[in-house]
Amino acid sequence: PPVLPVSSLSNHLQVSTQRLMRDLTRLGFKNVSPSYLLTFEYSSLIAEEYGYRVHTDSTSVASPQKPKSSQANAPLRPPVVTLMGHVDHGKTTLLDALRKSSVAASEHGGITQKIGAFTVPFDKGSKSITFLDTPGHMAFEAMRKRGANIADIVVLVVAGDDGVKPQTVEAIKHIQSADAPVIIAITKCDRPGLQPRKVIEQLMNYGIQAEEFGGDTQVVSVSGKTGSGVDELEAAILTLAEILEVRSSPKDQLEGWVVESCVAKGVGSLATIVVKQGTLSSGNFLIAGNSWGKVRSLLDVNNKRVKQVIPGQAAQVLGWKELPKAGDHVFQVKNESAAKEVLADIARRNGAQELYQLAESHNKQLEEQR
Ligand code: GDP
Ligand code: MG
Repeated sequence: PPVLPVSSLSNHLQVSTQRLMRDLTRLGFKNVSPSYLLTFEYSSLIAEEYGYRVHTDSTSVASPQKPKSSQANAPLRPPVVTLMGHVDHGKTTLLDALRKSSVAASEHGGITQKIGAFTVPFDKGSKSITFLDTPGHMAFEAMRKRGANIADIVVLVVAGDDGVKPQTVEAIKHIQSADAPVIIAITKCDRPGLQPRKVIEQLMNYGIQAEEFGGDTQVVSVSGKTGSGVDELEAAILTLAEILEVRSSPKDQLEGWVVESCVAKGVGSLATIVVKQGTLSSGNFLIAGNSWGKVRSLLDVNNKRVKQVIPGQAAQVLGWKELPKAGDHVFQVKNESAAKEVLADIARRNGAQELYQLAESHNKQLEEQR
């Protein structure tokens, strides 16, 4: 059977051989030396052990306890919304219509940048909604991995002339497994002969009960093309956000998500971050996935420099050492050395997970041979 010397395992886990030997001894291994051979089963167990410990270490930094009591009196923040649905059912067209209403409503009035998120203000900015201009499944991938919600509300887009399709069903599964609040947008309502009622009936078969049938899911007919129903959709989102009490204090510990990233010419690594909690400020030290950075500048959707980003809003962040990825969790650390320490922990955890997977696939092969 395959074996691994302690020295190789320590390399793989990115811990010192000394530390690994000490831990092995503590776990009950006798006469441990750098050349001591470990079976793959043991290697993977140990890897898991490291992964687990490192994981708890870094989550104590990554996900601070939400102060529940302060959360209750915290101000409402803009809900973060993502669109999901079958291909060609009108997500992009509807987002463009929503974006137009954002341009029309903002004082700036110019062309907004496509930066992965945009905010539509209402009532002179006293309320707003932030839409993620990213494939909805991306947000869900990240949610599944981290067990957290990038989006507060999902708009499930169903074309009125096509009805529930395979990717609609796929989206419903995601929504239900994440327990995400949902609003149904029946699109292309400018087309003749649509039967929204049929769509509503189809959705019932998948456990989505429309309000007008005694359920609690709002259904709105819209047209991305003519813009009809867009106001109603926005109103439905704001109503649901109020019911859900989407709140966050700007004073909470920072938490956010990368929704898009790129290397911009002459500017460097740029990541669009949606802030879910706390305040993002210039000069902050951030961790995102496997990268860290000191926020050099913050740019809003109009490419205008801003000093701070409050919960429920998104901005482009400059100052990364390496380019973070869409779906990366963002949190704040004290300073550069803390950032490096946390990243070393994360690297170790990734190393441990890699080895664990290796060991698992190896064991599977062994089983098959038997
Ligand atoms: P996506 O794949 O869900 O992003 O769908 P798109 O927004 O790209 O739309 C797919 C096609 O449907 C395009 O040809 C759009 O012009 C058309 N479409 C989208 N929304 C509407 C709508 O509200 N009314 C009509 N008549 N056509 C639409
Ligand atoms: Mg599209």
